Amino acid sequence: MMKHKKIEVILGDITRIKADVIVNAANRSLLGGGGVDGAIHRAAGPGLLEECKSLKGCETGDAKITKGYNLDAKYVIHTVGPVWYGGGDDEHNQLASCYQNSLKLAKEKKLKTIAFPGISTGVYGFPRDQAAFIAVTETKRFLEKNSYPEKVSFIAFDEENLEIYQRLLNQE
Ligand code: ADP
Repeated sequence: MMKHKKIEVILGDITRIKADVIVNAANRSLLGGGGVDGAIHRAAGPGLLEECKSLKGCETGDAKITKGYNLDAKYVIHTVGPVWYGGGDDEHNQLASCYQNSLKLAKEKKLKTIAFPGISTGVYGFPRDQAAFIAVTETKRFLEKNSYPEKVSFIAFDEENLEIYQRLLNQE
């Protein structure tokens, strides 16, 4: 199969990415937290938290969209990844749902570019190889069937995750 031109991996900080929408690895309260969630709220400013308060939380595997406020991104999709309990607790399906539901929201708003962090691969402890495999598989599947979004970027925050995504994307 041809290498997927619509998917790329970038080493960097997702709060600095210029995209129509960036995805936040949020928790069910949607009221901010540590890791990428904290970084996004800090960079977006207090308007983001105000809007998030009105959303009344989010279930694991689901996704909700807000504006991007002070970010370079126009929108933020907040999705709640599963906490890793060893893999027997539906974590794989829940993580796949995060990608599916986020891509669906981008499609509904006709957003062309979207950037994802490694959802659940920080404090939530999802094994990075398996998480990246799910991210790439669900994204390819979605892009084959839909014309929005046009481009998906995976933002690796460190070299290890960069290499994991590069290996997966070069396997096509
Ligand atoms: P979770 O609770 O879903 O595991 P974390 O925020 O702890 O979320 O981590 C998710 C992933 O985001 C991790 O791989 C972490 O290295 C990465 N990350 C943390 N900060 C940033 C950032 N500013 N930009 C991109 N990725 C980030």
